[in-house]
Amino acid sequence: MAKGKKSAKRPQSLSPRIALENVAEVDQHILVAQLDGLCVVDDSGIISVDKTRPDSITQNVRAIELAARPSIPGPAGVLKPRPEDDMLQVISTPDRGLAVFSTRKIKAGTLVLAEHPLISLNKHEENDYSTVEREFSKLSRAEQKVYLRLFDARKSRMSRVVSIYYSNCYNCEGFRPGGQGGSAIGALSSRLNHSCVPNVQFSYDEGSNEMRFYAIRDISRGKELSSNYDKSVFEVAAKRRRKQQMYYGFVCRCEACEPKNEFWVKSDERRLAMYDAVRAVQWCERRLAAEGDAAMVDKAQVGEAELVEEALSSLTRLEGLLLKESLVGVPLANTYRSMAKWAERKGDHGDDEAVKWKVKELEMCITAFGRDCQRTRDIEVKLEALQAGRSI
Ligand SMILES: [Zn+2]
Repeated sequence: MAKGKKSAKRPQSLSPRIALENVAEVDQHILVAQLDGLCVVDDSGIISVDKTRPDSITQNVRAIELAARPSIPGPAGVLKPRPEDDMLQVISTPDRGLAVFSTRKIKAGTLVLAEHPLISLNKHEENDYSTVEREFSKLSRAEQKVYLRLFDARKSRMSRVVSIYYSNCYNCEGFRPGGQGGSAIGALSSRLNHSCVPNVQFSYDEGSNEMRFYAIRDISRGKELSSNYDKSVFEVAAKRRRKQQMYYGFVCRCEACEPKNEFWVKSDERRLAMYDAVRAVQWCERRLAAEGDAAMVDKAQVGEAELVEEALSSLTRLEGLLLKESLVGVPLANTYRSMAKWAERKGDHGDDEAVKWKVKELEMCITAFGRDCQRTRDIEVKLEALQAGRSI
């Protein structure tokens, strides 16, 4: 498989300066080995320990700061987004293994991490266990060590190598052209824990073979960075927990899952309402598709204009719920995309509204994926066409 093979044979220096705190020496060396080409300053004391953070263990802390990031080769004239320095630290936590924390305030829309995958598979390869094993065998010894220390949910009927892959890989669906989908596993991205209310968004850049993570909310200093592993964002906590235990072997303790605060009390209610709003839009879509179908008994009772208004009203409700739940990133961008599509169905008099929602989608995608992501660029083209009053 070309991509995994390529990155395995020619590891590149892509990661930002990452501080490792309170990480066992063996882990330090393996993590550093992955960050090829960066020199290590040991016991520098550059990164201070945040004593206010409950997960931080202050004894025997050793800090490592990696040297300035190298220049990244790329096509001439194309400025690739790079994570800024000194934003992250990897810390050993008592209950969640190694985790990634911010060392300073990070604004929404900041690229926090970019790395080449250890293994990257397309959708035809990813269901073949032997391909995972084969790609693993192509990694360097240092990379294999990094890989084998990643979290293993010990999935049944799988070898350790395959089980680790499925315990940590990110879904690349939507980021590869032609519906190739697939998935990728990275050394540092695997250290980002899950949250049902994530503060970073994963994306995959096909051109550079990079896994990228952008902050989708402002992140305060000392806060854990988390991404969402789970597609089922509109489900209640108990249902999410069952799936997470089954597929990933962990119990999420984010603010939407732990019964301890005001947010949690309202979270299930909001997610149920989100689910209802999505169902209502799907119902409108089905009704619209059935227009002209003689079998549709009451088709004459609800016209297209009413269906469009009903769908837009449900989507407006969904937008409000997502914002209250701080569930931004992909779910919110997709909601705006749907709103623009429905507004366009109003014909000429819906143009301004379609532009308004498309601009919102664009803003969300710039924050979550960056300006050079294909989806962001596609929206810009679409928006230009909408503003020019033509449909594409
Ligand atoms: Zn959760």
